Amino acid sequence: MYKFSYNHNISHLQGFVESVYGLPDNRLYSISDILSNQQRFTMRALKGIRKGNKEKLKYNLLIAFSWHIAVANRPHINLEEKVWQRFPMLCSYCGRRPCECKIIKPTTRPKITKKESLKPKSIKETQEMFEKIYPSKTRTLAEAGVHLAEEMGEVSEAIHVFLGEHKEKQFSDITDELADYVSCIMGVANSAKIDLAAELASLFSNNCHVCHKAPCECKFSYVAKFSS
Ligand SMILES: [Zn+2]
Ligand SMILES: [Zn+2]
Repeated sequence: MYKFSYNHNISHLQGFVESVYGLPDNRLYSISDILSNQQRFTMRALKGIRKGNKEKLKYNLLIAFSWHIAVANRPHINLEEKVWQRFPMLCSYCGRRPCECKIIKPTTRPKITKKESLKPKSIKETQEMFEKIYPSKTRTLAEAGVHLAEEMGEVSEAIHVFLGEHKEKQFSDITDELADYVSCIMGVANSAKIDLAAELASLFSNNCHVCHKAPCECKFSYVAKFSS
């Protein structure tokens, strides 16, 4: 039996998604198919924001995040490391904590020295790190949602550009955008007061959250119509 535990980190979540969904993902879906599911559930989460429905937002945010992990798993991207490289307890654009991008409007990225002792050990700590870098009191939930949509578009763009030419720089752009998407998932969760680690632990307590098998045995057509 596979599960995600409250003290687990992004690497554990990548391992969980690979163990439970790796087989059907590899057999039934191209990376573009996986990406379109990530987009579908991200947009459903945004609908939850517009409707003021926190349950809808929470559930679809978790499903969008798990499809996002599947996107990272396909080309074997270590998301845990990439998130830390891009957000080493500091904003990646202004190099400050809390972020001061609105004040100093950086045009180039600063050289940052990482303090390894500050690296989050779990998704819970990663979410807390993003609250420190980007405090939720500085934005509305709707603004956090718009930012998530923007990053969803950038993930999609980076993947499509790479699929067209397969250049190394284009691959590295994908990893940057995947890390930025994580920061926005955390931002929405912080703005909506959702404890992502607790919710993931509750959803993924026993293999696939729907069929409870590993590998997941949910039918392709069922997944295509799946909604909440
Ligand atoms: Zn900043
Ligand atoms: Zn299943």
